[in-house]
Amino acid sequence: MSNKIFKSKTILAGLNAKTVKGDDVYVTAIMYLAPAAQSLMGNVCPMAVMAGCEMGCLSKAGRAGIFSSIVNSRIAKTQRYFADRAAFMAELHRDIAAFVRWCAKHGVKPAVRLNGTSDIQWEVAHPVAGFKSIFEAFPEVQFYDYTKVYKRAYRSLPANYSLTLSYSEANPAYADAVLTAARETGSNIAVVYRTKALRNAEVTKSTGRFVHREVIDGDETDMRFLDPRRVVIGLYAKGPAKRDTSGFVVG
Ligand code: SF4
Repeated sequence: MSNKIFKSKTILAGLNAKTVKGDDVYVTAIMYLAPAAQSLMGNVCPMAVMAGCEMGCLSKAGRAGIFSSIVNSRIAKTQRYFADRAAFMAELHRDIAAFVRWCAKHGVKPAVRLNGTSDIQWEVAHPVAGFKSIFEAFPEVQFYDYTKVYKRAYRSLPANYSLTLSYSEANPAYADAVLTAARETGSNIAVVYRTKALRNAEVTKSTGRFVHREVIDGDETDMRFLDPRRVVIGLYAKGPAKRDTSGFVVG
C-alpha cells in the first residue's frame, strides 16, 4: 500500500493501515488540539489536574518546541473551537466528509479519534449539520477515544463511538473513581506500564491486578473499538514517558 497522507484543517491520517479482523482495513484520522488550558481560552481536559497528567502533556508539547508551527497551529485550532463552536463543528464536519471520500478512494474504512490531545465530551452539546452529534452525522465512521472523564462511561454513547478509560495513579481518588466506573459499566481501562517486560508479565497472568481483569496487549493495534469488553489494555511507556513519576505510568 502506498504511503499517502490525508491532511485537513482539523484532522490528519496516514495510510499505513494495518489489516485487522480479516479484510477490514481501518485508517484512523486524529485531531490534535492544544491540551488542557494551553490555548489560554479554555480547558479541553477537565480531569487533567485531578489525574495529574497536565504537566507531562504540556512538557511533551514543549519538547515539540513551544514556538513551533505544530504547537502554534494546534493552539490556533483550539482557539477557533472556543471562539465559535458552531463554525468549528462545521469545519470538522467538512473535513470528516472529505476523509470518508478519501478512505473510499483508497479502499479502507474510516476511523476517527477526535481527542488525540484533548478530552472533550463530544457526545454532549456539540450538534452539527442538523444532527445531535458528529457521531450521528457519520454513522459509517467508527469513532473512538481514550478518556479521563470517567463519568462518560456511564452515558449511553452512540453505537459508533467507543471510549476506553485512561488509568493513572497520580491521585488515589482518581484511580479509585476510574476503577469503579470500569467495574460498574464494563468499560475497558488503558494502563501504561513502564516497560514492555512489565506489560508482558501482566498480559501473561490469567488475572491482572486491576479488578481481576485480563490484561491484553494494547500495542498490537491502536484500534481500541475492536477490543473485547471488560479487559485492561496494557500499553508500555515509550520515549520520555518512561521517566514519568506522576503516577500515570505504572511500575
Ligand atoms: S487529559 Fe490527556 S490530553 Fe489532556 S492533559 Fe491529560 S494526557 Fe494530555
